[in-house]
Amino acid sequence: MGSGANHRHKPSLAVIGTGIAGLSAAYLLKDDYQVTVFESQARAGMGAHRVDYTSHGITRRIDIPLRIFCRGYYENLFALYKHIGVEIVTSDHSGIFSDETGRVILHYGNARWGGARLSYLKGHSWLSRAAWTIALQSRQFFARARRDIGRTDLADLSFGDYLQQSGAGHDFVETVLLPMMSVTCTCDYQAVRDYPAEIMLEYLTCGIHELGVMSAAKGVDDIVPRMLVDVKLRTNSPIAMIEPAGQQLRVVTKAGADQCFDQVVVAAQAQQAASMIFGFDERRALLNRIPFERSSMSVHTDQEILPAPVKRLSPVSYHVPRGSSRAEVSVDLTKAIARLSGQQTVFQTWNPMRRIAPNRELARVDFTRPTVTRDSREAVRALRANQNQPGNRLWLCGSYMAEKIPLLEAAVDSSVAVAEHLGAAIPWKASAPAAA
Ligand SMILES: Cc1cc2nc3c(=O)[nH]c(=O)nc-3n(C[C@H](O)[C@H](O)[C@H](O)COP(=O)(O)OP(=O)(O)OC[C@H]3O[C@@H](n4cnc5c(N)ncnc54)[C@H](O)[C@@H]3O)c2cc1C
Repeated sequence: MGSGANHRHKPSLAVIGTGIAGLSAAYLLKDDYQVTVFESQARAGMGAHRVDYTSHGITRRIDIPLRIFCRGYYENLFALYKHIGVEIVTSDHSGIFSDETGRVILHYGNARWGGARLSYLKGHSWLSRAAWTIALQSRQFFARARRDIGRTDLADLSFGDYLQQSGAGHDFVETVLLPMMSVTCTCDYQAVRDYPAEIMLEYLTCGIHELGVMSAAKGVDDIVPRMLVDVKLRTNSPIAMIEPAGQQLRVVTKAGADQCFDQVVVAAQAQQAASMIFGFDERRALLNRIPFERSSMSVHTDQEILPAPVKRLSPVSYHVPRGSSRAEVSVDLTKAIARLSGQQTVFQTWNPMRRIAPNRELARVDFTRPTVTRDSREAVRALRANQNQPGNRLWLCGSYMAEKIPLLEAAVDSSVAVAEHLGAAIPWKASAPAAA
């Protein structure tokens, strides 16, 4: 618990939102400020959506969504989890792609080879000309992307332009790349194409295929309490307004309670932040340039939506109907999450397009999520410049505030940047203490 600094007077600071951005900001700032954390939902946000699943007489908690990450892209997240003692395990995310008729187009598995993971064609895909074509186009795409990642003109290109210019294979792009990135970014294929090429290529060349993906061994319940130490937590406290009040900022809840703070960190999504800040017109206009998309996630046990008997399948199933704007993607949690192995099969399906039997659905949750365009990237740069002015008291962090895909890493990256501006030492960046 806490540092010896508790005895001196510390300035007050409010954090609005308890996604990973708000949690990590609160954790990093708690030694230097008296931190009060406000969350609109009944539980800390990162763990707000979850369901208990009982099978074989055992109850296990399922996070919604399941969150995965990989070495190579998640530098701050790994450092944070290591620092707070979160155990991390590998997760198999090999996949099967099928069309609107349920016909399997490509099925691949992952094998470990030394420290690396290799993908190989599985089942009938081994004999399928279409699958081999996609595999070849995939190799060509990644080889070219690794060569192109340093190109200075990528900043001016959308990912769609890049795919066209680089001659990426049509079948690979339509069947595999766009569906994979639409679930990674939880958005339409068009929004994937609109991402800046540089941001997409940075993610795609980070080594995710060779290093594999990981998840927190014990889920969100193990993560949230590790970050909410030495802070006051106010759940069920949606914030309606933040406005200047002399040398402080007034934070007003929707129920009308108000309190003034020396500093305020808004760690809600951009459109949510825009709706609560008053007297910051330029920032509000910039926040409104950050696009976002809606989607939903279902946790269920309905095996009917899978293309083949579940035992033979890789954990991730992509349903890719021609002409649709997104894929539907199901993860067999008993194969992907070690703590659920041995349970009866249960799935998480992003963007359910087909009917899931109501008596087999455990939960359905709607989400919004930012996307990145060349315009939003400029807006984020302007927001950062704006808040880094001397005397600023209102800080924005969240996955939209870093120049990355809005994943967990971007959210932590953004709270590290704010904490550094507010004078906090970042434990995993700390230099050795000066000799006395
Ligand atoms: C379906 C889905 C799957 C995903 N899978 C992955 C994955 O596998 N790996 C990965 O790295 N990332 C994944 N992500 C992205 C990741 O979840 C986000 O990057 C991350 O949650 C962003 O954190 P954040 O703190 O910026 O925002 P959020 O998590 O959105 O947190 C914002 C918080 O602010 C609160 N809030 C909003 N308005 C107010 C208000 N007025 N008053 C008080 N509180 C308020 C909200 O309730 C919420 O708790 C996924 C996202 C989705 C939607």
